[in-house]
Amino acid sequence: MKKVNLIMPPALELYDPSAYQNLGLLYLGGALKDKYECKYIDLSETNIIPDADFNLITVLQATYISALETVRLLAGNTDSKIIVGGIEVTVNPEKAYSDFHPHCAVCGEAELQIENILNNNITGIHDCGVVKNLDEAAFPDRDLIPLDKLRNVSSIHGDRYSGDGASTTIITSRGCPYKCTFCCKIPQTSYFRWRSASNVHKEMVEIKTKYDISHFRFIDDCFTANKKRVFDLCSLLKDNDFYWMCCTRADLVNASLLKEMYNAGCREIAFGVESGSQRMIDIMNKEETIEQYIKTFKLVKEAGIKIKILLMENYPGETPDDVVKTMDFVKTVQPDKWTLSSYVALHGSAKSMRMEPYGKFFYPMQESKLKLWLKNEEWKYK
Ligand code: SF4
Repeated sequence: MKKVNLIMPPALELYDPSAYQNLGLLYLGGALKDKYECKYIDLSETNIIPDADFNLITVLQATYISALETVRLLAGNTDSKIIVGGIEVTVNPEKAYSDFHPHCAVCGEAELQIENILNNNITGIHDCGVVKNLDEAAFPDRDLIPLDKLRNVSSIHGDRYSGDGASTTIITSRGCPYKCTFCCKIPQTSYFRWRSASNVHKEMVEIKTKYDISHFRFIDDCFTANKKRVFDLCSLLKDNDFYWMCCTRADLVNASLLKEMYNAGCREIAFGVESGSQRMIDIMNKEETIEQYIKTFKLVKEAGIKIKILLMENYPGETPDDVVKTMDFVKTVQPDKWTLSSYVALHGSAKSMRMEPYGKFFYPMQESKLKLWLKNEEWKYK
């Protein structure tokens, strides 16, 4: 059986680069299960890349520089085929092809086509488009992650609501129909599709049975964008002792849905608020209002679900007055948790596209951190 490495280069700027297993790579592992011998290689945790016929490397904006270094090191030490994919390749395949010189640059969602790409030695830029029916995709192969790592995720994940604290990520829909100007909006991220409630439930039961995990972090962009599907999923989950958290918009929940979600194990919802200033919310094209947030958060609290709000500073146009409004907003709504991130021009976002004609591609990676990583890694190929 031919061998495949599924390689995750490190996001060196993150507090904990290995906090999340890369579900995209695990989906590829699920698609290739029993046809290729796959290994998941998290380069923030290991410096050993086993010998393989194919090295599949996922490339994010946050890992672009470390992915380039990984390819450079691999290309000089092995004659295995290098295939790059992931969101950064999808956003700009020509640039990725020219930067990485791979055997193949795969853009789009590859799980239904990866076997064909490997079997038929497809080269150049290959566009997989989107997976329209997500129920057709095999479940992510979590067997590729050591059990203790899979169950014992780092503290960066925050609260766990199940007894033993074991927790894992799962995705039940892809894309989001809204058009916030800071968000990556390419066809794969704009076209909203969802898995059926029964398909999601089946994966959750499998995770519980195989790995004894009963706390789930739904990492969908907008978990409740299709309310009927969430009602259906909640009715399936009522009889399981599962706990979960999700992320959605304030205009996509109501009292009856929140009640069902709580009864089905939902204990925390994260809302991308970004700013407490209506002026900034409008500039970001979020199509929400401060009044909506206040009203919805009251309902969420009444349902017994914790609220986490995600805030962003330094979005172009933000003034000191907007910052004061955001602070006042937090004091008013009293969330259980909040996070503050600094604005980064995400490739594929409306804001970033205005800079791209001038060749300004932003890859967050301090040279000093990269050098330290390379110095610390005694690269090995077995
Ligand atoms: S920020 Fe959230 S709601 Fe806005 S476009 Fe992105 S995923 Fe959709």
